[in-house]
Amino acid sequence: MAAFRPDPPRSITPAAPPSDAPRGVAAPVSRVIEAFRRLPGIGPKSAQRLAYHLVRMPEAEAAELSEAITGVKQRIKLCDICADITEEPVCGICSNTNRDRTVICVVEEPLDVTALERTRAYNGLYHVLHGAISPTSGIAASDLKIKELLQRLQGQKPSEEVSEVIVATNTNLDGEATAMYLQRAIAPAGIKVTRLARGLPSGTDIEYADDATLAHSLESRSEISD
Ligand SMILES: [Zn+2]
Repeated sequence: MAAFRPDPPRSITPAAPPSDAPRGVAAPVSRVIEAFRRLPGIGPKSAQRLAYHLVRMPEAEAAELSEAITGVKQRIKLCDICADITEEPVCGICSNTNRDRTVICVVEEPLDVTALERTRAYNGLYHVLHGAISPTSGIAASDLKIKELLQRLQGQKPSEEVSEVIVATNTNLDGEATAMYLQRAIAPAGIKVTRLARGLPSGTDIEYADDATLAHSLESRSEISD
Protein backbone atom coordinates (compact mmCIF):
# COMPACT_ATOMS: atom_id res chain seq x y z
CA MET A 1 0.00 0.00 0.00
CA ALA A 2 1.41 3.36 -0.97
CA ALA A 3 2.37 5.60 1.89
CA PHE A 4 0.14 8.60 2.38
CA ARG A 5 1.81 11.73 1.08
CA PRO A 6 0.30 15.13 1.80
CA ASP A 7 -0.12 17.48 -1.12
CA PRO A 8 2.91 19.65 -1.63
CA PRO A 9 2.39 23.09 -0.08
CA ARG A 10 0.77 25.46 -2.50
CA SER A 11 2.61 28.51 -3.61
CA ILE A 12 1.23 31.61 -1.95
CA THR A 13 2.28 33.75 -4.90
CA PRO A 14 -0.94 34.72 -6.65
CA ALA A 15 -1.12 33.49 -10.19
CA ALA A 16 -0.95 36.12 -12.89
CA PRO A 17 -4.46 37.15 -13.92
CA PRO A 18 -5.55 35.00 -16.82
CA SER A 19 -5.09 36.75 -20.11
CA ASP A 20 -8.12 36.87 -22.35
CA ALA A 21 -5.94 36.51 -25.39
CA PRO A 22 -5.69 32.91 -26.56
CA ARG A 23 -2.23 31.32 -26.55
CA GLY A 24 -0.12 31.89 -29.59
CA VAL A 25 -1.69 35.25 -30.41
CA ALA A 26 0.72 37.85 -31.75
CA ALA A 27 1.50 40.49 -29.13
CA PRO A 28 -0.06 43.45 -31.02
CA VAL A 29 -3.32 41.52 -31.39
CA SER A 30 -3.33 40.43 -27.79
CA ARG A 31 -2.82 44.06 -26.74
CA VAL A 32 -5.92 45.06 -28.70
CA ILE A 33 -7.90 42.17 -27.18
CA GLU A 34 -6.92 43.29 -23.67
CA ALA A 35 -7.92 46.88 -24.49
CA PHE A 36 -11.34 45.83 -25.81
CA ARG A 37 -11.89 43.68 -22.72
CA ARG A 38 -11.78 46.77 -20.55
CA LEU A 39 -14.77 48.30 -22.37
CA PRO A 40 -18.20 47.94 -20.75
CA GLY A 41 -20.24 45.01 -21.98
CA ILE A 42 -17.40 43.36 -23.90
CA GLY A 43 -16.63 39.75 -22.92
CA PRO A 44 -13.52 37.76 -23.92
CA LYS A 45 -15.18 36.31 -27.04
CA SER A 46 -16.39 39.69 -28.29
CA ALA A 47 -12.98 41.21 -27.60
CA GLN A 48 -11.33 38.54 -29.77
CA ARG A 49 -13.88 38.94 -32.54
CA LEU A 50 -13.40 42.72 -32.58
CA ALA A 51 -9.62 42.38 -32.56
CA TYR A 52 -9.61 40.03 -35.56
CA HIS A 53 -12.09 42.29 -37.31
CA LEU A 54 -9.51 45.07 -36.87
CA VAL A 55 -6.77 42.87 -38.29
CA ARG A 56 -8.81 42.36 -41.47
CA MET A 57 -9.90 45.98 -41.71
CA PRO A 58 -8.47 48.13 -44.55
CA GLU A 59 -5.69 50.31 -43.20
CA ALA A 60 -7.51 53.59 -43.95
CA GLU A 61 -10.56 52.44 -41.99
CA ALA A 62 -8.42 51.38 -39.03
CA ALA A 63 -6.63 54.73 -39.11
CA GLU A 64 -9.98 56.53 -39.10
CA LEU A 65 -11.14 54.55 -36.07
CA SER A 66 -7.89 55.20 -34.26
CA GLU A 67 -8.10 58.91 -35.06
CA ALA A 68 -11.71 59.04 -33.82
CA ILE A 69 -10.70 57.47 -30.50
CA THR A 70 -7.76 59.84 -30.02
CA GLY A 71 -9.85 62.82 -31.12
CA VAL A 72 -12.62 62.15 -28.64
CA LYS A 73 -10.11 62.55 -25.82
CA GLN A 74 -8.25 65.50 -27.32
CA ARG A 75 -11.06 67.62 -28.69
CA ILE A 76 -13.92 66.96 -26.33
CA LYS A 77 -14.29 69.19 -23.34
CA LEU A 78 -17.00 70.34 -20.97
CA CYS A 79 -19.07 73.40 -21.82
CA ASP A 80 -17.94 76.39 -19.74
CA ILE A 81 -21.57 77.10 -18.84
CA CYS A 82 -23.52 73.84 -18.53
CA ALA A 83 -20.73 71.20 -18.30
CA ASP A 84 -22.24 69.15 -21.14
CA ILE A 85 -19.75 67.51 -23.49
CA THR A 86 -18.80 69.76 -26.39
CA GLU A 87 -16.06 70.58 -28.88
CA GLU A 88 -16.37 74.34 -28.37
CA PRO A 89 -15.82 76.33 -25.17
CA VAL A 90 -19.61 76.86 -25.06
CA CYS A 91 -21.98 74.14 -26.31
CA GLY A 92 -24.58 74.50 -29.06
CA ILE A 93 -27.50 74.66 -26.63
CA CYS A 94 -25.98 77.36 -24.39
CA SER A 95 -25.04 79.47 -27.40
CA ASN A 96 -28.43 79.06 -29.12
CA THR A 97 -30.25 82.39 -28.73
CA ASN A 98 -33.61 80.74 -29.44
CA ARG A 99 -33.49 78.73 -26.21
CA ASP A 100 -35.44 79.92 -23.19
CA ARG A 101 -32.74 81.19 -20.82
CA THR A 102 -35.05 81.45 -17.82
CA VAL A 103 -35.25 77.69 -17.25
CA ILE A 104 -32.38 75.32 -16.45
CA CYS A 105 -32.90 71.56 -16.43
CA VAL A 106 -30.39 69.77 -14.19
CA VAL A 107 -29.39 66.25 -15.22
CA GLU A 108 -26.88 63.67 -14.04
CA GLU A 109 -25.18 62.76 -17.32
CA PRO A 110 -24.64 64.13 -20.85
CA LEU A 111 -26.76 61.25 -22.22
CA ASP A 112 -29.72 62.62 -20.25
CA VAL A 113 -29.49 65.85 -22.27
CA THR A 114 -29.69 63.74 -25.43
CA ALA A 115 -32.76 61.91 -24.06
CA LEU A 116 -34.56 65.14 -23.13
CA GLU A 117 -33.67 66.80 -26.44
CA ARG A 118 -35.15 63.81 -28.26
CA THR A 119 -38.56 64.56 -26.69
CA ARG A 120 -38.62 68.03 -28.31
CA ALA A 121 -40.73 69.02 -25.30
CA TYR A 122 -38.12 71.30 -23.75
CA ASN A 123 -36.56 74.50 -25.00
CA GLY A 124 -34.66 75.74 -21.97
CA LEU A 125 -31.03 75.30 -20.94
CA TYR A 126 -29.30 72.45 -19.11
CA HIS A 127 -26.77 71.84 -16.41
CA VAL A 128 -24.93 68.50 -16.25
CA LEU A 129 -23.84 67.38 -12.77
CA HIS A 130 -21.75 64.39 -13.91
CA GLY A 131 -23.25 62.09 -11.31
CA ALA A 132 -25.50 62.21 -8.28
CA ILE A 133 -24.92 62.63 -4.57
CA SER A 134 -24.46 59.13 -3.17
CA PRO A 135 -23.61 58.60 0.50
CA THR A 136 -23.26 54.85 -0.16
CA SER A 137 -20.67 55.35 -2.91
CA GLY A 138 -19.01 58.27 -1.12
CA ILE A 139 -20.01 60.84 -3.77
CA ALA A 140 -20.55 64.24 -2.17
CA ALA A 141 -22.02 67.44 -3.59
CA SER A 142 -18.47 68.78 -3.94
CA ASP A 143 -17.62 65.93 -6.37
CA LEU A 144 -20.29 67.14 -8.80
CA LYS A 145 -20.83 70.29 -10.88
CA ILE A 146 -23.15 71.71 -8.20
CA LYS A 147 -20.90 74.60 -7.20
CA GLU A 148 -20.80 75.60 -10.89
CA LEU A 149 -24.61 75.52 -11.03
CA LEU A 150 -24.95 77.75 -7.95
CA GLN A 151 -22.35 80.16 -9.33
CA ARG A 152 -24.20 80.21 -12.62
CA LEU A 153 -27.45 81.14 -10.86
CA GLN A 154 -25.74 83.86 -8.82
CA GLY A 155 -23.86 85.40 -11.72
CA GLN A 156 -26.72 85.65 -14.20
CA LYS A 157 -27.55 88.77 -16.14
CA PRO A 158 -30.82 90.44 -15.05
CA SER A 159 -32.17 90.09 -18.61
CA GLU A 160 -31.65 86.33 -18.53
CA GLU A 161 -32.72 85.68 -14.96
CA VAL A 162 -33.53 82.04 -14.28
CA SER A 163 -36.98 81.64 -12.76
CA GLU A 164 -37.08 77.85 -12.62
CA VAL A 165 -34.66 74.97 -12.14
CA ILE A 166 -36.07 71.60 -13.20
CA VAL A 167 -34.33 68.74 -11.42
CA ALA A 168 -34.27 65.77 -13.80
CA THR A 169 -32.01 63.46 -11.84
CA ASN A 170 -32.76 59.73 -11.94
CA THR A 171 -35.65 58.46 -9.82
CA ASN A 172 -33.52 56.34 -7.49
CA LEU A 173 -32.29 57.13 -3.96
CA ASP A 174 -29.21 59.04 -5.16
CA GLY A 175 -31.27 61.04 -7.66
CA GLU A 176 -33.80 61.93 -4.95
CA ALA A 177 -31.06 62.90 -2.47
CA THR A 178 -29.55 65.16 -5.15
CA ALA A 179 -32.93 66.75 -5.87
CA MET A 180 -33.49 67.54 -2.17
CA TYR A 181 -29.99 68.99 -1.87
CA LEU A 182 -30.55 71.24 -4.88
CA GLN A 183 -33.95 72.34 -3.63
CA ARG A 184 -32.43 73.44 -0.31
CA ALA A 185 -29.52 75.19 -2.00
CA ILE A 186 -31.50 77.00 -4.70
CA ALA A 187 -35.00 77.76 -3.35
CA PRO A 188 -33.80 80.36 -0.78
CA ALA A 189 -32.66 82.50 -3.75
CA GLY A 190 -36.32 82.77 -4.78
CA ILE A 191 -35.95 80.44 -7.77
CA LYS A 192 -38.64 77.81 -8.26
CA VAL A 193 -37.24 74.27 -8.09
CA THR A 194 -39.32 71.59 -9.80
CA ARG A 195 -38.95 67.84 -10.23
CA LEU A 196 -40.06 65.73 -13.18
CA ALA A 197 -43.53 64.25 -12.58
CA ARG A 198 -43.88 60.89 -10.90
CA GLY A 199 -45.05 59.30 -14.13
CA LEU A 200 -41.52 57.99 -14.44
CA PRO A 201 -41.26 54.58 -12.76
CA SER A 202 -39.05 54.78 -9.68
CA GLY A 203 -35.54 53.58 -10.33
CA THR A 204 -35.65 54.99 -13.85
CA ASP A 205 -32.50 56.23 -15.52
CA ILE A 206 -33.51 59.32 -17.47
CA GLU A 207 -31.38 58.27 -20.42
CA TYR A 208 -33.41 55.07 -20.89
CA ALA A 209 -36.88 56.55 -20.36
CA ASP A 210 -39.06 56.46 -23.46
CA ASP A 211 -39.67 59.79 -25.18
CA ALA A 212 -43.41 59.99 -24.50
CA THR A 213 -43.07 59.27 -20.77
CA LEU A 214 -40.23 61.73 -20.47
CA ALA A 215 -42.10 64.46 -22.36
CA HIS A 216 -45.16 63.88 -20.16
CA SER A 217 -43.19 63.99 -16.93
CA LEU A 218 -41.59 67.25 -18.09
CA GLU A 219 -44.97 68.84 -18.79
CA SER A 220 -46.46 67.79 -15.47
CA ARG A 221 -43.43 68.54 -13.32
CA SER A 222 -44.14 69.87 -9.84
CA GLU A 223 -42.41 72.12 -7.36
CA ILE A 224 -40.23 70.39 -4.76
CA SER A 225 -41.19 71.28 -1.22
CA ASP A 226 -39.42 70.51 2.05
ZN1 LIG B 1 -23.55 74.40 -22.49
